[in-house]
Amino acid sequence: MAALVLCALMQASHATGTPRITDASAFLDQTESLRIQDHRQFAERLAQIHRESPALTTAEQWHLRYLDALESSLEGNYAAAEKPLHDVIDHSGDPTLAAKASALLMNNLAVSRRYEDAFKLAQQLTIDLPRIQDKAVRLQVLGYLSQMLNLAGQTDLAIKYAHMMEDSLPPGMTSCNPRSKLVAALWSAKRLTSSSPELTQAIDTCEAARQPIVATAMQLILGTLHLEEHQPAKTLALLDRIAPGIQINHYYPHTLSAQVQRAQAYEQLGKDEDARKAALAAVAMAGPDDINDYLKDAYEVLYRVAKRHGSTASALAYYEHYVAQTRGSLDDVAAQALAYQTVQQQVLTRKLETEELSKQNSVLKLQQALDAKAAETSRLYITLLIILLAAIGLWLFRTMHSQKRFKRMATRDGLTDIFNHQHFISEAGRVLHLMEKKLGHACLISIDLDHFKQVNDTHGHVMGDAVLKHAVAICQQHLRPADLFGRLGGEEFGILLHECCRNQGMDIANRIRIAIEASPMEKDGCVISISTSVGLASTDTSGYELLRLCTEADAALYRAKRAGRNRVIADTGNDGLVEA
Ligand code: GH3
Ligand code: MG
Ligand code: MG
Repeated sequence: MAALVLCALMQASHATGTPRITDASAFLDQTESLRIQDHRQFAERLAQIHRESPALTTAEQWHLRYLDALESSLEGNYAAAEKPLHDVIDHSGDPTLAAKASALLMNNLAVSRRYEDAFKLAQQLTIDLPRIQDKAVRLQVLGYLSQMLNLAGQTDLAIKYAHMMEDSLPPGMTSCNPRSKLVAALWSAKRLTSSSPELTQAIDTCEAARQPIVATAMQLILGTLHLEEHQPAKTLALLDRIAPGIQINHYYPHTLSAQVQRAQAYEQLGKDEDARKAALAAVAMAGPDDINDYLKDAYEVLYRVAKRHGSTASALAYYEHYVAQTRGSLDDVAAQALAYQTVQQQVLTRKLETEELSKQNSVLKLQQALDAKAAETSRLYITLLIILLAAIGLWLFRTMHSQKRFKRMATRDGLTDIFNHQHFISEAGRVLHLMEKKLGHACLISIDLDHFKQVNDTHGHVMGDAVLKHAVAICQQHLRPADLFGRLGGEEFGILLHECCRNQGMDIANRIRIAIEASPMEKDGCVISISTSVGLASTDTSGYELLRLCTEADAALYRAKRAGRNRVIADTGNDGLVEA
């Protein structure tokens, strides 16, 4: 299995010349394609780019950063590759490049035994997979995913991904990669025999595609299967056949695996000494801290051979190594499975949390929608209420205005806007009643314009109306707010002077008469002079009864007319102040 993990990265290399960099983007693409065919040339071209430092666009700079990280990974320097790969994933803004970087990082993490981080990335890549459009990248990602799932013991899923790879293979591309992943997964699932067509096909395809490392990995699986089926001669024959290739590739996991298989085959054939030598050669290849299945198998052979030959001390020593390798190997398998389960659990928890959150969200959204509806409804109600209140207000205003207008119409004279006869009489009666109660004084004045008929006859009725208004305006100038002023009919007016004794009344009446005489009306080029005759009755002498006061004021007015007009006469029959 470990041999397969790196298969996608390691390839046999052969040197060819490197061209000058003219088109940086194309140069980078070609360099990347060499990753599969020729690692040495791949590294040389990368070094050339850094040496020549051509001007690169931002996208090309990100591509170069990914290729540098790829080279670090191929060299086994996973720590150096980690940051640039994270940068490409998080900041390049190129989904295809980010997917490739994720897949590579996932592979690096798995090889570095950081299984949990690797499975987290695998999880993310599974989610991102449908969005990856580039077929080659999609294939690459599927391959890494199949490999990761196989590592986690999820062989069914690993097989499924391998089939997906085969199905999404771009035209003209070799199916070595999908088939090798399928074999790896079937082997882990213990569903492979030495005669399985999938295995034969994978070996043939990868040999035809000139992918020797992958082909060798498949052949080594076949060798192991021969051993499991107790056909050691077949294993040895196979190992002899592939030995030259293994030597050329010089890929440590394969060299070690071949050596251990050789030891196991010899042991099965009963050639203990050959088995011991082969196993010792295998053990000698390993570093002091190496722990893997091959070394476990090698120590197992050494232990059994030593035991059979009575070398108890050696047997015990080998057995201890065997146990250590077994434990290490089992620990690794357990760590892989545990990491996978942990990530699955985290994903499940996150999913549940997300579902819970989205449920809460939808409840919240519903609540907000209801609140918004309620707010809208109350806004509507408030608007309706305001409209209703405004309508009522307007109606009230108009009603009051009309009432006021009607009231005014009912109490005022249409031409002069002073009290009409009826209202004047009723108000005068009320005021006199009050005066009587508090023993105050009041004077009733009756005014009649002199020879008014002539004004109409000379200047027309319209001019006559204007003269009437003019006279009223002059009268008003001499009245106090509490005094009552009304049109009694035609060109006759009545005034009730409030809190006013006879002499004061005479004085006011005369001032009015003088003012009217002295203020001719000027209108439309016409100057119309008028005079008035005034009769006065006072409560001082006539009492508070309105009828009597009216009669006496009229009588005084009549006398004023008779006396030659343009004068004021009081009710006593004695002339008051009379102006000539
Ligand atoms: P005297 O000095 O004796 O009061 O003479 P006179 O012409 O004023 O008296 P008379 O009662 O004969 O005439 C009143 C005139 O007032 C008659 C009428 O045409 C006029 N008259 C009454 N009401 C109105 C009115 O509302 N507008 C106008 N222009 N004229 C009116
Ligand atoms: Mg008159
Ligand atoms: Mg008159």
